[in-house]
Amino acid sequence: MDFPLVINNPVKNPFVIPGLKKMQIDPQLNPNYTFEAFIEGDCNRVARRAGKTVAEKPGANSFNPLVIYGGVGLGKTHLAQAIGNEVKRLHPNKVVLYVSSEKFINQFMDHSRNNAINDFIHFYQLIDVLILDDVQFFAKAEKSQDAFFAIFNHLHQSQKQLVLTSDKSPKDLDGVQERLLSRFRWGLSADLQVPEYDTRIEILERKMKNDGLEMPKEVVKYIAYNISNNVRELEGALISLLAQSSLNRREIDLDLAKKVLRNFVKSSSKEITIDTIQKMVCEYFDVPYDKLLQKTRKREIVQARQITMYLAKAFTKNSLKTIGEHFGGRDHTTVIHSCQTVKDLMDTDGVFRENVLELQQKVQLAAM
Ligand code: ADP
Ligand code: MG
Repeated sequence: MDFPLVINNPVKNPFVIPGLKKMQIDPQLNPNYTFEAFIEGDCNRVARRAGKTVAEKPGANSFNPLVIYGGVGLGKTHLAQAIGNEVKRLHPNKVVLYVSSEKFINQFMDHSRNNAINDFIHFYQLIDVLILDDVQFFAKAEKSQDAFFAIFNHLHQSQKQLVLTSDKSPKDLDGVQERLLSRFRWGLSADLQVPEYDTRIEILERKMKNDGLEMPKEVVKYIAYNISNNVRELEGALISLLAQSSLNRREIDLDLAKKVLRNFVKSSSKEITIDTIQKMVCEYFDVPYDKLLQKTRKREIVQARQITMYLAKAFTKNSLKTIGEHFGGRDHTTVIHSCQTVKDLMDTDGVFRENVLELQQKVQLAAM
């Protein structure tokens, strides 16, 4: 058998340009965001199944682009990354890239300053599965939209897969060019809804199982019943409860859950205000209050500001718009971005995470 010979001398594919190797890039995926970990419910069935199809046959399906849209904390990033992880698992040679639209826009601007827009576009045109998160950030970024238009057309024509997420349905994406929006409609737009009670229980139980935690079923039900807005809050409640339990060396029971969740649930007895949180963060980081509200771009101040927005979102019932207004009239998209940044940094930066958790506890205690 001369099998090895075949491997050593593969038949040359006449279409492959000699010297052009497949690009090796880090797909920028969080390995925890898998389909397995993404609980299916009525709230997400269509999107989840479409995502699976896309991952099995990237590019060669009718969901191109796949647009996943829905409110904050409902699983858009998780699902989009699950598609990427699954593609890598099933088709290890495919070039997959996950990128937030914000990063894409920043990269574009860097390349534009260096007169290297063509390099930028060419790089993206070599990708097999491009996952672009939060395309609502494209609003008004005209030049970036032009670049993305060129990339989109090339990838789509070459049967490469595009996966996009957005906090709004494509038809409501103000500030995005009509020619892009019409392309977004070529494939499938699937939305993520707020999970129903049973799904919320299942999500909580899965998180606990993954982290090796246990708590009485009545507590799980209590959390799932009272926190119905989004999955991130659900997780936040679980984390707070665990933190309180270990801080006070106390078993988790319904009593503790009621106490801890008081500021998450509707029957909140003591209202925490954005002001209170701002003052607590200033004190904690030793940052002057007026700096927090101004446009200062110093790193410590920016981070303190982002954490404050994140906590305000988690602990008050104010809208993103209202929160933005409390920071010198910033836009709600700034608040969304801040919350996401804090979440991302908590995943990657241990010290940062400790700071946020400690602040979270302080805010919680203040609410009791
Ligand atoms: P979005 O991008 O829509 O703001 P994320 O994808 O960041 O939301 O999700 C927020 C959190 O909720 C993440 O930790 C994610 O793992 C979790 N999550 C969302 N939906 C589900 C689900 N169906 N099953 C399990 N976890 C979920
Ligand atoms: Mg997201």
